Amino acid sequence: MQSTPLTFDTKEFLRPLLFGLPEEDLDLLAQKVVMRRFETEAVICREGEPGEHVYIVVDGWVGIYKRVDDRTERHIHTGGPGEFFGEIAVLREGARSATVRATEPTTLLEIDKDTFLSILGRSPSLGIRFLMHATTRWMDSDRQSIEALQRANQELTGALQRLERLDRTKTDFIQVSAHELRTPLAALLGYTQMMEKHTTVQDDPELRMLMNGILTSTQRLHRVFNSILDASRVMNEGLKIYRSPVSIPVIFHGILTDYATVIDERKLTVEMSGLQGLPFLSAAPDLLTKAFHYLVNNAIKYTPDGGTITITVKTLDDTEQGAAIEVAIRDTGIGIAPEDLDLIFEKFYRTGQVALHSSGATNFRGGGPGLGLTIARGVIEAHGGRIWAESPGYSEAECPGSTFYVRLPITAQASVTS
Ligand code: ADP
Repeated sequence: MQSTPLTFDTKEFLRPLLFGLPEEDLDLLAQKVVMRRFETEAVICREGEPGEHVYIVVDGWVGIYKRVDDRTERHIHTGGPGEFFGEIAVLREGARSATVRATEPTTLLEIDKDTFLSILGRSPSLGIRFLMHATTRWMDSDRQSIEALQRANQELTGALQRLERLDRTKTDFIQVSAHELRTPLAALLGYTQMMEKHTTVQDDPELRMLMNGILTSTQRLHRVFNSILDASRVMNEGLKIYRSPVSIPVIFHGILTDYATVIDERKLTVEMSGLQGLPFLSAAPDLLTKAFHYLVNNAIKYTPDGGTITITVKTLDDTEQGAAIEVAIRDTGIGIAPEDLDLIFEKFYRTGQVALHSSGATNFRGGGPGLGLTIARGVIEAHGGRIWAESPGYSEAECPGSTFYVRLPITAQASVTS
């Protein structure tokens, strides 16, 4: 390590560094500078603080670091004897853009802001040299930022690929398990249904109640396995669409018939409009029915008793894909927080406190595996359509409601007027 001579001649040290500066300015500067000593790791100037001084390294080394986040910083430059730093904040009259620390015991000359600016004002050639110095440092930092971004990008891409592989493994496992379990479950369901009808059970109220419990739970389990298989079909294989003319009013008529009892029990009002004169869609009727089933089921599940579900259908002629049918299912339920509006379509994603969900497929906040919207989106997108949700926010107290929109293209071959 070089050490500062005891009889240090400031003017002679500055002369080659400030080459071209008139003698009297050099004298003035030599009088004004202050020599400072910093131990290893000592902070000389800190990012974000106002820049009041410019420094020149006499001996030792300094490191220049930029903050990346609360816990990390990036090293952008190392400065040794004869190097200037701190001039950028002084020239900009702004805050320090980086932190400088001594990387070993270091001696510096400190020039105060006013002296530095007045000397610079008197020597244009010196001004240009400082400008070049600052520009080179900036370009260096810029290049390092780009390299750091490229590295981060590569790491992110690698992490994403690993996550996708893991996600795939998880989905495969769930799909295989659901397949394996569905067969014995179907048998269990069949036997339970047969037993429920048996006269021994029918004649005994207690047995009837117990059988009813077993049957309801088995049916629920069966529904969950079916939706897992549907979802994995949507996610892994892509859906094959066997098209035929489909009528939206007929689909909704069937769905509302299925839910008539629960709608009645839970005192929900269902209003429908726009069903007259709709064209047929060229679509897979079973898949489309399934998708709308999930949407109506959710509207029922997430709306408290006494609420209203409004289903509005209209034709649009001016969408990017041409003519389309748009279905809006609006409820007066608990609503959805803005940050969840996209995420709810991801598999197994459920909002709110899942542990508080009640059981039962149509009870208020009835629990579900979090697959209905994944399946609905898969089905709608396989038809070239779009599905999205809108809501003012989530509140179980105020129930601001949600609206789910489905837009399906009317393809030419199926635009038969009903
Ligand atoms: P599930 O209903 O089985 O949990 P879904 O995929 O159908 O799964 O829905 C995912 C999540 O989106 C639900 O758990 C719920 O948090 C939210 N959600 C769906 N529909 C509605 C709705 N109409 N109102 C409020 N939240 C909803």
